[in-house]
Amino acid sequence: TRRVGVLALQGDFREHAHVLRALGADVTLVRRPEELAAVDGLVIPGGESSVMDKLARTFGLAEPLRAAIRGGLPVYGTCAGLIMLADTVLDGIRGQESLGGLDVSVRRNAFGSQTHSFETDLDVPVLGGEPMHAVFIRAPIVESVGPTATALATLEDGRCVAVEQGNLLGTSFHPEVTGDYRIHEYFLGKVRAAA
Ligand code: GLN
Repeated sequence: TRRVGVLALQGDFREHAHVLRALGADVTLVRRPEELAAVDGLVIPGGESSVMDKLARTFGLAEPLRAAIRGGLPVYGTCAGLIMLADTVLDGIRGQESLGGLDVSVRRNAFGSQTHSFETDLDVPVLGGEPMHAVFIRAPIVESVGPTATALATLEDGRCVAVEQGNLLGTSFHPEVTGDYRIHEYFLGKVRAAA
């Protein structure tokens, strides 16, 4: 078993911890640099990226997180976590910073104030098998994918909602709430391969 951290500053970290434990991972809630240093992979949950950013800086975690990402730690970000991993954030609040690592631009709250949430079945070829039921909650969209990142899934209109780049993985949607754990399994594959 690998030790997998879930960034637990804010957001739905408990749901991710539950999924990862169900898949046999040894889960650590990460709030301090020492906890980050002890994990073989990290999930950044959904929540509110601007708040997560502020808390990460306040708790002295932002720089250790950036260093870990640069050093190749496998990291999976969902929704706000994807925003944290994006090199460029569009429509961030004033002064909002991301950790970066993923060569993408994401737009926060891209589905507008009317449709904060929706669900759809999404084909994710890298997972094989059935389409994945995907839940979007005030979700970001990946507006552009740079040359070093790869789109893993797109909506019917062609907009990208899942990306990977080396050991980094990001989804606009929330697989931790649907009972379909294939993305988490896919991520744990990266953790095992890296450790
Ligand atoms: N809108 C949130 C943000 O900008 C993300 C929403 C989510 O994580 N479900 O961070």
